[in-house]
Amino acid sequence: MAPAPILIKCPCGIETRGETGDIVVCSGCGARYDTAAEAQRLEGVAALTQRQFRYLSRAGLGFIGLLGVAGLVWLNVWGLLILGAGGGVVWFVLFMPWMKRRMLTKASTLYTPTVSPTRK
Ligand SMILES: [Zn+2]
Repeated sequence: MAPAPILIKCPCGIETRGETGDIVVCSGCGARYDTAAEAQRLEGVAALTQRQFRYLSRAGLGFIGLLGVAGLVWLNVWGLLILGAGGGVVWFVLFMPWMKRRMLTKASTLYTPTVSPTRK
């Protein structure tokens, strides 16, 4: 996974920017912060979000399939096309982006970087 930017707030009051996976050295007091564990945690959260997203895509296909069958029963092929396409738009254009935003917000609350300095 690509490194993510991280902001280390050192007790000495200096904030140092780095990337997860790096050893970030405070530019104020020289304390070293090992962010490898943060990189791993971030990866775990990202993998969880991705799994949930794959599940949502599959659920969406099922939802569109059901609508398509309902449309087929209701109006034959036109019903299948209208409800299938309508369902696809509702799920993948409206619902999924909304869910994605919600899931990313949740992921960012799960992921709160706390890194302690290691001895020099
Ligand atoms: Zn410092």
